[in-house]
Amino acid sequence: MRSIVFIVVDTLRADHLGCYGYHRSTSPFLDTLAEQSSVLDACYSTSNFTAPAFTSLFTSTYPYYHGNFFFNKQIANSPIKECLDAHRFDTHAIVTFGFFKNLLSRIWGGLEVVTETRSFDFSKELTGAVSDGAIEWLERWDGDRPFCLFLHYRGGHAPYRLPAEYETLFDSTDPDDIDQEIVEVFFPQHIERPKPKKKGERTFPRKHQLVNAMNTGRRKVNKATRQWIIDKYDASIKCTDDNVARVFESLKSHDRYRDTIFAVFSDHGEELWDHGQFGHADVHLYEEVIRTVGIIHDPLRTEAVRKAEPISHIQVMPSLMRLAGVRALPKQLVSFDFTTDMERKSSIDQPNLVFCIGPHKAAVRQGNLKLIEASPCHYLSKVKRLRSVLRILWMGELRRELYDLGIDPREKDNLANQSTQLRPLSSLLKQHIRVTKRRSDILDSGFKLSAAEQEKLEEELRSLGYL
Ligand SMILES: [Zn+2]
Repeated sequence: MRSIVFIVVDTLRADHLGCYGYHRSTSPFLDTLAEQSSVLDACYSTSNFTAPAFTSLFTSTYPYYHGNFFFNKQIANSPIKECLDAHRFDTHAIVTFGFFKNLLSRIWGGLEVVTETRSFDFSKELTGAVSDGAIEWLERWDGDRPFCLFLHYRGGHAPYRLPAEYETLFDSTDPDDIDQEIVEVFFPQHIERPKPKKKGERTFPRKHQLVNAMNTGRRKVNKATRQWIIDKYDASIKCTDDNVARVFESLKSHDRYRDTIFAVFSDHGEELWDHGQFGHADVHLYEEVIRTVGIIHDPLRTEAVRKAEPISHIQVMPSLMRLAGVRALPKQLVSFDFTTDMERKSSIDQPNLVFCIGPHKAAVRQGNLKLIEASPCHYLSKVKRLRSVLRILWMGELRRELYDLGIDPREKDNLANQSTQLRPLSSLLKQHIRVTKRRSDILDSGFKLSAAEQEKLEEELRSLGYL
């Protein structure tokens, strides 16, 4: 059995990497790795924000099955973990944010949260701390079992906090043209390790409100400021790329290097005004926010392969396990394995249904066609669903959208009123949404956070802009 290093970078849209066609040198390491790897060109998150996306990655279930939208539920077990255990994998995780404990503590082995052990939330050194932890763990590891090491990087998640050498790396606008309020909120310079907070005190009270005001048009953002944010986002990618490279270099000198699959994904992307909005976790499910990175490096098969057919995140772990040598996947995971034709350059001749569930909308892709519909998520509370409906109406987002990504990859030409494919795709999506019964064996329904844990979780989610 072979080992797996499974890296997931937060908030990293695929098209800002050179290997996915970006014009800037944001990712020299990943670009080189991609030339010796299988690259998934149409890899999709199951949602447009962190909690449902990661829960899907670690349970191989869609959000309507797992029902975990805010990290406040604990995953009790997962077919992925059962399979890893059955094959004696040594599982370990080094992650950025504390809320991963709710997700992983019962379905993974060792778990180091670097914000508690070697850094702190929004530290400029947070990205480096994950790599430091990974390198130390790899150097220490001398077991005779295969391992599965999961690493989470904060990637391009705002606010942008970067070591000095990255801060101005891609700056391209005149500082005099940049909105200073946005600079203060998106690029805060004076955050030290937080002192114990008073009840209800917030770390970044203004970011969520500011993004909300920007996205509803109440707060205008000039062109130079938008570009300035994109420059900082790109610098965050370069910082992550350099740190992922450090882990790979360390792995290369490891005894198990030739026996280790090195996989790099992202949990979701980021809107950078491609369709008029900034951020993620809001109404949109366009490519920039749900299409993710997917690079799988196998040192025994280093030819470049581009895989064009749509792949969902629920397929990722079963496929990595198969590449690692797991012959018999659990029954419910077998059909998710996409590795069987990995060595062939596949085209979109085997349409694969891929679903994506956001808080306000749902989407399905089949072949090149992608349908997006308004659909407040069933797992929001009644009050939140009502708010979702109002938000969709307020933002003029009620329309259905159908795009042919083969000829319109930037989703500019809505075919909803002229395609006969709208109705069958819409039925497929509704059918998926009707499956609202959670897989009861995945969530721990009796799980309750203590008041202190609940407060810490809410603070963390709020500071990231989710509440
Ligand atoms: Zn995320």
